[in-house]
Formats: sequence, structure tokens, C-alpha cells
Amino acid sequence: ADSRKYTGIVEDCACGYETVDSLNKEVLHPILQELVATPFFRYFKVKLWCDCPFWPDDGMCRLRDCSVCECPDNEFPEPFKKPFAGLSADDLICQEGKPEAVVDRTLDRKAFRGWVVIDNPWTNDDETDNAEMTYVNLQLNPERYTGYVGPSARRIWDAIYTENCPRYSSGEICPEKRVLYKLISGLHASISVHIASDYLLDEATNMWGQNLELLYERVLRYPDRVRNLYFTFLFVLRAATKAADYLEQAEYSTGNPDEDLKTQSLVRQLVYNPELQAACPVPYDEAKLWQGESSPELKQQIQKQFRNISALMDCVGCEKCRLWGKLQVLGLGTALKILFSVNGQNHLNQPLQLQRNEVIALVNLLNRLSESVNFVREMGPSAENIMERR
Ligand code: FAD
Repeated sequence: ADSRKYTGIVEDCACGYETVDSLNKEVLHPILQELVATPFFRYFKVKLWCDCPFWPDDGMCRLRDCSVCECPDNEFPEPFKKPFAGLSADDLICQEGKPEAVVDRTLDRKAFRGWVVIDNPWTNDDETDNAEMTYVNLQLNPERYTGYVGPSARRIWDAIYTENCPRYSSGEICPEKRVLYKLISGLHASISVHIASDYLLDEATNMWGQNLELLYERVLRYPDRVRNLYFTFLFVLRAATKAADYLEQAEYSTGNPDEDLKTQSLVRQLVYNPELQAACPVPYDEAKLWQGESSPELKQQIQKQFRNISALMDCVGCEKCRLWGKLQVLGLGTALKILFSVNGQNHLNQPLQLQRNEVIALVNLLNRLSESVNFVREMGPSAENIMERR
């Protein structure tokens, strides 16, 4: 957006706006766009028909574009159908003090030890429950304008902000709570940017295009929302690079060796990127948080709040919005898990363990945020010019 407004370092992060813009445009965005199109990353497992625990379903969606096409059974990768072989989550926890500990330590040198079925403490859905799950091809279901507006949508955002992460005024709130607010606001801004970048301009002729007025009205007019978008992007990017060893060693098999090698190589390019390491080695420094005395209780409280936000996704009254809402909240939950739920460097007590679906959510979320940052950079100045001349 306007280069005069966004200079210096992104709040609480260690990279400047201009660095983020150029790194994203030149390096990260192209890699991510290719990565999310690979067979491994384009299928997301999701429970789409869930009961809303808070309000009865009020089905506010108006458009056909609102519904999701699920995958025919033969479409998604064969290895995804098989139950996970071998290790259960219990096997992977280091049995400290027991003779097996020696063996575990050796294993610990290897970050990735097979995809596991394990619940994420930051999310509401039980990730180990496969009942009623369907696979969705994300490439066929882009996040864009769906016509989901009015009291139903408003109620969900209101519940998220008022019940779970109250707007803060600076200085009044601990940094951990501020992080939660900024992540949600950044995600909200990103969703609005996607609505603006792919909007149904004329329903009669089914003409889609950019809606720069909407971009301005919902995002650019509020510089804080733009800042929160950049913050969320760097936070999720940090999670991906912190889990670099795990992600690099992970198994991306879909039954197509050429595609799978390409996926592995793209992941490597993303998490061990020399340009990123040179310009912005630690996009966000998570070590600054959870230093206070009441830190364990605080973490539990924030985890509970985030789980409530995750549960609210079941109340989103438009299927496609629910799909992307669930994916992105799981992606944020995965970033939170990587940054805040794993101990220190050597992960002795809690080795990092991720579900395949969590990694798919993390990378797709990062791509969505990267697209939003790119769109704001590209179209922000003209949107501001148009609107400020009015
Ligand atoms: P809203 O975006 O609903 O915002 C409500 C209020 O929240 C605003 O009035 C403002 O006070 C505050 N606010 C807005 N943005 C921010 C921010 N970044 N930070 C802090 N506060 C903010 N619609 C689609 O067309 N496609 C989708 O894919 C889609 N996905 C959705 C996913 C979820 C999880 C939800 C809850 C809604 C989704 N919607 C989607 C609906 C969309 O987000 C809007 O709610 C809708 O377009 C109505 O917009 P609005 O102008 O009333 O403001």
C-alpha cells in the first residue's frame, strides 16, 4: 500500500515492510503458488457438515459459488486413504527416565518420523476423528466473494472479537493476548482482501473481477488491519521456518514420484530459503513471549480462547467460507503449536509432531497470506488514489 504509511519494522517482528514486500513478490509467493498446486497440498481433509454449538444454522448463503465441490473418491492421492502405519502418538513421546530413552534420543535427531494422528491442543475439532471427513480439492474451491453477508457473518466476527480476543488499546494488555488479536485481525483482513480481489461484479452476466472500493473500505482505510496482515504473514512464516527440519524431512508421497520429488524440493526452497535467511532470518521472535510468572495459566486461557474461535467456524453459514475458515484457523493453530507448544531446541519432552492435514493447512494459509500481502502491495496505491480523489 502507500509506502509512506508502511515503513520501518513490522510491529513485534524483525523485518521491515519493504523487505517483506520484495521477498514475498520475488521469492516466497512464486514458490508458494507452485506448492499449493501440487497433489500433496491441494487436498484438504475437512468435516464440512458440523453442528454449530452456538446458534442453529441459519443458512445465509445466497450464491451457488458458496458451495464446495468435494472430491470424487478416485481423485485424491491413494496414500491419503490408508490408515497411518506404525507409530502412534504415544510411541513418539520420549520416555524420560526409562531405558528406552537412549533409543528415543537417537530418534530425536530425526525431526520427522512419519505422519501421526494427534490432536491439536489449539483447535476444537478432534483431528484424530476421521468420521464424516471429506477431501476437498482446494484448487477447485478458491477463497473469494460468496455473497455471505449480513447478520450471520457479522455475528461470527463479533463473537470472535468480543468474546475471545477483545480489541486492545496499547499498553493495557499483555503481549500474548495482543498476538491473538493481531492474528485474528490479520486473518480477517486477508479474507477481506480475497473477497476484494475476486468479486462478483455483475451477477446477471457472471462477471468477476477486482473490487478496489471494497479493498479500501474494509482494509486500507484502517492501517492497523494492514499491519496485522503483515504481522500474521510473518508469524506463520516463522512457524514454517522453525519447523524447517521437520518439513524438509516429511514424506510427501501421493503415489506420483515425479510430483512428490517436486513437492519436496519446493518445500526445501521455502523453508531453507537463502534470500529469506539473508534478509529476514527470524521473521518473528516467539521467544519473547510467555516470560511472566502466570505464563502457564495464561497459555491455557489463550489456548481455550483460540479453541472457541475454532469452534465458531462450525457456525459459518456458507460452506465455502466454512472450508477456508476451518483451514485457516487450523493453519493458525498449527503455527501456534509449532511456536508455543514445543519445548526449546531439542524437543526432548515434546517432539514436534504434526498431522499431514496440519501441514497442508499451514502451507495453504501461508499462501493465502502471501497472496493478500501481494495484492495490497500491487493494488493498494491505486485503490487509495481512486478513493481519496472521490
Ligand atoms: P466484516 O468483514 O463482516 O467485519 C465485521 C466488523 O469487524 C467490521 O465492521 C469491523 O468493525 C471489524 N473488522 C473488519 N475487519 C477487521 C480486521 N481486519 N481487524 C479487526 N476488525 C475488523 N465472505 C465471502 O464473500 N467469502 C469468503 O470466503 C468468506 N469467508 C468468511 C469466513 C469467515 C470465518 C467468516 C466469519 C466470514 C466470511 N465471509 C466470507 C464473510 C465476510 O468476512 C464478511 O463478514 C462479509 O463480507 C460482510 O462484511 P462487512 O462489511 O459487514 O464486515
